[in-house]
Amino acid sequence: MSVEYSSITCRTALSPSKLPGLKYSLNPYVGCEHGCIYCYSRSIFRDRELALRWGRFVRAKQNIPELLSREIKRKPKGVIGLSTITDPYQPLEAKLGLTRRCLEVLSRHEFPVSIQTKSDLVLRDADLVKPGRFDVGVTITTMDEDLARKIEPKSPSPDARAQVVEEFASRGVETWVFLGPIIPEINDDAPSIERVIEVARRSGSKLMYDKLNLRAWVLESIAPFLEEERPGLVDRLPSLLTAGSDYWRRISSLVEGLCAERAVRCEPAFPSWACEVPSKRQATPSKR
Ligand code: SF4
Repeated sequence: MSVEYSSITCRTALSPSKLPGLKYSLNPYVGCEHGCIYCYSRSIFRDRELALRWGRFVRAKQNIPELLSREIKRKPKGVIGLSTITDPYQPLEAKLGLTRRCLEVLSRHEFPVSIQTKSDLVLRDADLVKPGRFDVGVTITTMDEDLARKIEPKSPSPDARAQVVEEFASRGVETWVFLGPIIPEINDDAPSIERVIEVARRSGSKLMYDKLNLRAWVLESIAPFLEEERPGLVDRLPSLLTAGSDYWRRISSLVEGLCAERAVRCEPAFPSWACEVPSKRQATPSKR
């Protein structure tokens, strides 16, 4: 499937973020070639055709490093999330280096930075990632390569992502594993969840978890895959994923229990969506 690349000029680099633990978001690209079928970043578009073409276009914000270097001098300090609606280390980054140039700016200022990616390309920039001020998280929905290929078609393998947190942890950088989205009857079984938790345990990372988010266009994007894998599931998803549903209560308990058994720190990515599961999670700040 071909990807259409273009360059755009942006007007701001840092946007206010409402995500837990983040004050700003920094997104060097619009769109994401990784093309995860569950990605809810596509909901930023009103246009259905554009939203459903997510993964097949990438717009590079060519002037973002220069804008960032000006903005950062006048903004109040706060955690910068890199990135929140794109992957800062998607394939085009290897060629353009926009994220790297932003990191070069950030490394010269005292803002805390939280990097989230699915790509081992982030290891290229390890020289700029300052222990104590930067943290690095990888999203791993499953350690099953075949399933990952179906739902995250152009993302690096789960094993490559696991190596990212292991490498950064060995360098003294705080790391975390984002287990999400958890999709009912796809990656919500205990063995699958355990394999992801094991990555967090090995690397000493915190684990954050989240359920499938059915924002605009997501159901339509994921429906063909679900129909193939679990006929009829599409119709049941909305009730399973309602906040406080029995389903999500059970999965939250499962994740928290499996983490507790392995002494892995664990928290829901969005505490307000979570069910009341006894845990120590409120003791640590939530990133996203
Ligand atoms: S890597 Fe992240 S931003 Fe990119 S398509 Fe997947 S979920 Fe969306």
